[in-house]
Amino acid sequence: MTPAITATTSSAPQQSAIAQAWLLLESLTDPEIPVVTLRELGILRDVRLASSNDGSEQFEVVITPTYSGCPAMGQIEDDVRNLLNANGLQGRVVTQLAPAWTTDWITQEAKDKLRAYGIAPPHSGADHDCLTQGNTSIVQFAARSASNPGRHELLAVPCPQCDSENTTETSHFGSTACKALYRCLDCMEPFDYFKPY
Ligand SMILES: [Zn+2]
Repeated sequence: MTPAITATTSSAPQQSAIAQAWLLLESLTDPEIPVVTLRELGILRDVRLASSNDGSEQFEVVITPTYSGCPAMGQIEDDVRNLLNANGLQGRVVTQLAPAWTTDWITQEAKDKLRAYGIAPPHSGADHDCLTQGNTSIVQFAARSASNPGRHELLAVPCPQCDSENTTETSHFGSTACKALYRCLDCMEPFDYFKPY
């Protein structure tokens, strides 16, 4: 059985079209953190052309969710489709779950932007503290205690305002499940910490 959509080897004009689509899509920012783009966060994985059975070509935009059930993903898919349509491009969104997204995919530039925005960027290195699939988060949460803290709690989280490492976690779940709420004990400002996973 022939698949409806088959990826094709890109010709020069196709590569040019893909490059233009990338340029467009690079303007898309995260719905929750508007200072960083989807590409910088590692959510936007690939842009390719695929031909359907009738010979027409359409773009396939590959995205990987930050975590399963992330409420922003529907918004991100809509944003991608709307941007393509607004520029007269045919396209669809392909969600790719493997390999799973990790905060290590966030570019250094984006981490700097997060800090400037007031969010402490994640330490590199996954501790899978933030998975919210099935019972995993409950099990991991229950397993955590003062004598068995998550890995990220062993590392100081510098205040994005004043750089002090004299900070404390005030809520393990901040404005979203993937952020923890911290407070700086020097400048007293509360801030979000993007938890690594
Ligand atoms: Zn501070």
